[in-house]
Amino acid sequence: MEKSLKEILETKFKGSVFIDEPLAGYTSLNVGGPADIFFIPDSVESLSGFLRLLRKYKISFIVLGNGSNVLFSDKGLRGAVISMSHQGFKRIEVESNCVRCGAGVLLSELSRKTESLGLSGCEFMAGIPGTAAGAVISNAGAFEQDTGKIIERVESLDFSSRRRVFQKNDLKFSYRYCSLSVCKLVIIGISFMLTQGNVVSVSRRVEEIKKRREEAFPELPNAGSIFKNPDSIPAWELIDESGLRNMRLGGARVSMKHSNMIVNEGKATSKDIRNLVEIIQIKVLEKFGIALEPEIRIVPEFLNVQ
Ligand SMILES: Cc1cc2nc3c(=O)[nH]c(=O)nc-3n(C[C@H](O)[C@H](O)[C@H](O)COP(=O)(O)OP(=O)(O)OC[C@H]3O[C@@H](n4cnc5c(N)ncnc54)[C@H](O)[C@@H]3O)c2cc1C
Repeated sequence: MEKSLKEILETKFKGSVFIDEPLAGYTSLNVGGPADIFFIPDSVESLSGFLRLLRKYKISFIVLGNGSNVLFSDKGLRGAVISMSHQGFKRIEVESNCVRCGAGVLLSELSRKTESLGLSGCEFMAGIPGTAAGAVISNAGAFEQDTGKIIERVESLDFSSRRRVFQKNDLKFSYRYCSLSVCKLVIIGISFMLTQGNVVSVSRRVEEIKKRREEAFPELPNAGSIFKNPDSIPAWELIDESGLRNMRLGGARVSMKHSNMIVNEGKATSKDIRNLVEIIQIKVLEKFGIALEPEIRIVPEFLNVQ
């Protein structure tokens, strides 16, 4: 990195910028080498200034929520990571059935808050370790609910620091897909439209969901489902029937508890996980002729410069 850029970053964004920051600690899989620049904006204004600088210096970036659906390379990232983990992006406001929240609000918080008000629609979020913005981008869902069904509005900054607001009709959602995922922007806030239910029934549903997750999910570090489910058959069944449950590669293992999850047994590298992903894809393709598509975002060391 240019010395002058490093100086600008460290002066202008003092306390919010970290150079050569290891990424492993920011992801649920606990793997990933250093990012050239790691930035935690505390406000929309500082995010906007940072984006202007990235544009000026032609530096590519990725936005990070809670890191529960990403796999970084062991070599890290040549570019910038923008982490939306500051308190400034963690506010929740409720007005009648509409819940507005910052990008970095945790789904467990959203589910807890809406449950306490008897608002229905966020029950599925209980136990998903992601943020509201991460859930929008991947259209997170479970138990017949998903993010796209309750979205009302998304506020963002684009790469030129322009504020862009999307109403629900501007957005397309399908299974684990949101049209915003292909846009170069940073989500800063989201509004959800929920249904008024009652506290008892919403709480009962949340408890049911939490219990089902506890039964099905491994305890070791993981990123949830590794592959999307093909239309015809769940991915875990294909993996199981290919004899891959519990398969181990280096420090990575196909979970014994849920074969569509890969766990880090402690010392896994990103390469171990990547290789295991590829082996599963090859074996399932050979046996069933079905190409499994990763649900996690595999982030290469070099991103395209915008
Ligand atoms: C134990 C476990 C259980 C899980 N269960 C489920 C489940 O039931 N259903 C499900 O769908 N998923 C599940 N997941 C996967 C994951 O938690 C969700 O996809 C979650 O919504 C990701 O949120 P995140 O904040 O961690 O996103 P990250 O992993 O940080 O990022 C995911 C994507 O969103 C982008 N992104 C994040 N924030 C922003 C932003 N502010 N602006 C623009 N882009 C952004 C990132 O660039 C990346 O492309 C599970 C994961 C784990 C570990």
